[in-house]
Amino acid sequence: MGDNVINFYAGQPPLNRVAFQRHSSEIMNRHLHDPETRFLIFKDGRPLMKKDESGRILYLTKDQLGDEILGQEFGVAPSDASSDTKKLYETSRLPHTEPALVFLGIDDRESPTTNSSSKVDHLNPQGPAYFALDAQSQTDEWDSLLQKQNGEWGDARSSGNSMSDWDAGVYAQGRALVDWNVRNKFCPACGSPTYSLWAGWKRNCTSSVQPVEGKEPCFSTKGLHNFAYPRTDPVIIMGILDSTGEKMLLGRQKSWPKGMYSCLAGFIEPGETFEDATRREVLEEAGIEVGPVRYSSSQPWPFPSNLMVGTFGRAKDGQSIRLDLDNELEDAQWFPKSLIQKIISSPTGSNFSQKDYKQLEQKSQTDHDQETSAALAPSEKKPDELVAKDGELGISRVPPRTAIAGTLIRQWCEGGLELVSKL
Ligand SMILES: [Zn+2]
Repeated sequence: MGDNVINFYAGQPPLNRVAFQRHSSEIMNRHLHDPETRFLIFKDGRPLMKKDESGRILYLTKDQLGDEILGQEFGVAPSDASSDTKKLYETSRLPHTEPALVFLGIDDRESPTTNSSSKVDHLNPQGPAYFALDAQSQTDEWDSLLQKQNGEWGDARSSGNSMSDWDAGVYAQGRALVDWNVRNKFCPACGSPTYSLWAGWKRNCTSSVQPVEGKEPCFSTKGLHNFAYPRTDPVIIMGILDSTGEKMLLGRQKSWPKGMYSCLAGFIEPGETFEDATRREVLEEAGIEVGPVRYSSSQPWPFPSNLMVGTFGRAKDGQSIRLDLDNELEDAQWFPKSLIQKIISSPTGSNFSQKDYKQLEQKSQTDHDQETSAALAPSEKKPDELVAKDGELGISRVPPRTAIAGTLIRQWCEGGLELVSKL
């Protein structure tokens, strides 16, 4: 990993995804029936957690789940199918109404091969396989299973935030993939239902396996297109410094918890680079022109399928902040490093309550402005007294390390000068 910054939700080491195994129904079904295999369950995007144990995922085995909940195993093409037709059935899940089931990979951390030899065989990893399963459609069975296994449906954001680093990586992958399968049940080209193949990593129009007489084949079944594969939507998170490197531009939205400021953030638009998006967003939100921009690190963000891209940029001299261009922020200011350092080292400087969290969640649901809440990622810790009083625009909190904005701010505070010199 070298000197790369590792952000929360990135796992590390990640599951070995053995993507080349996804095409084999035989291998996938072997994993599916292995008693060591673990299943991570989601209901409406909420993870199955151990009851009364904060941040502990309740992984289930196949025996605990039972065949009825798990549904059909992965299918293969009819034996007399042509090689082109066989491709339509690779590790398929039919009928299309079966609950989403996704192969995540293999945990090879404990593999004897990995630990006892420098020749790590990543192509044939040993260890438990992990799957993610959607529980959406079978409420009664799940109610009794939860009781039996002492589990509960956790809150998507705050549960994730309190997981161990490694579990958070599995969770981020599983949540994004199950969500993608659940949200893409119909073909964007013709409206027919879609079905899963490649063990949950591809979806295809059912018109390809159940052609309708007299109808042209759906165009989504031909050529290259982005209908069939899971999405990753990039969001830029920006640490903007003044020309001395001693001040950072932070902003807040009106709906945010009191005293909360964070890095400016926004979706990367089609046709933009990381650098373009950084300059455009800072200009739109704060009226500030940015010169040099450098990539710092990135963070998977499974709410539902973002990749947070952290950048640093240096503002041009002699400019004034203005918020009236897109009116997205309630306030933005240049904050000196000494003040931010004080906030970070205070016990309340990155604490957010469940109420704060709900406030952000509601905001992101009402205006689809997910990137702004993503800049925060509050923790579950108890709230404390805040410096800022009602109606004041004082800063008293910045995001925790589990959000990349929190990492960028701390990088600047802790390292600062060499970062600026690189710009
Ligand atoms: Zn179609």
